[in-house]
Amino acid sequence: MATPYRRVVLKLSGEALAGNAEFGIDLPTVERLAQAVRTLSQMGIQVAIVVGGGNIWRGSQAAERGMDRSTADYMGMLATTINGLALQEVLERLGVATRVQSAIEMRQVAEPYIRRRAIRHLEKGRVVIFAAGTGNPFFSTDTAAALRAAEIEAEVILMGKRGVDGVYDADPRKHPGAHRFERLTHFELIQRGLDVMDPTAASLCMENRIPIIVFDIGEPDNIVRAATGERVGTTVGG
Ligand code: UDP
Repeated sequence: MATPYRRVVLKLSGEALAGNAEFGIDLPTVERLAQAVRTLSQMGIQVAIVVGGGNIWRGSQAAERGMDRSTADYMGMLATTINGLALQEVLERLGVATRVQSAIEMRQVAEPYIRRRAIRHLEKGRVVIFAAGTGNPFFSTDTAAALRAAEIEAEVILMGKRGVDGVYDADPRKHPGAHRFERLTHFELIQRGLDVMDPTAASLCMENRIPIIVFDIGEPDNIVRAATGERVGTTVGG
C-alpha cells in the first residue's frame, strides 16, 4: 500500500490560482485547491505551500520590455504575497489554521520567514504559506520551493502544473506524439533541458536529493494522490 508523506512542500504557480483565466485570482479555483490542502492536513500530513505570482506579474517579462530587472522582480515577489493572502483567507474559511511567512518583511500582513518557527507551525498542524519567493531578485518561486523544502526537510515537492499531467520529452501541446516519463532523474531533467522548473531550482533539488512529483493541478485531487504516495504524473528523483 502507498505510504503518505509526512511533510511536503506544495508548489502552486500563480496560474494555478487563475483557473481558466490568464490573469488574476479565481476564488472557486482557490477553494478547490484549499479543499485538497485541508484533506492533507486532516490526514496529518504537514503542508508548506510556496506560491508563485505569474498570474499577476512576472519580473522577467517586464524586464524584457525595458524595466529594471530587480525592481520588476521585487514587484513579482509582492505579487506572490497577494496570492499567499488569498490562499490563507480561503484556507482559514475552510477551518484550516495557517500562517503566511514572507521572505520580505511585511509585518502587518505576514510573519517574517523564520525557519524554526515555520517548522514549529507545521508540527502543530498549521499550514505554512511561504510568500515573496526567496526574497531575492533573479530567482524564481520554483527555486524558493527547492530552498524551503531543503530547509524544512520536506520529503518531496508536489509541483502542480496547469494543462499538463507530467514531464514529457517535448511540449505535448505542440507535439502530439510526445512521450510522458513515469520517472526520471534530476540529472536527466537538467541535461535534457525539460521545461519543468528552472535549472537553478532543479540543481538545488538534485544536490539535496529532493524528489519532485509533477502532475496536473487542474484536477486538485491529484494533490491528495501525490501526497499519499499514489502514482500520479511524473516523479523526478527519489
Ligand atoms: N521572484 C523573484 N525572486 C524569487 C521568487 C520570485 O524575483 O525568489 C519574482 C520574479 O519576478 C517572478 C515573480 O516573482 O517572475 C513571480 O514568481 P514566479 O514567476 O516564480 O511565479 P510562478 O511562475 O510560479 O507563478
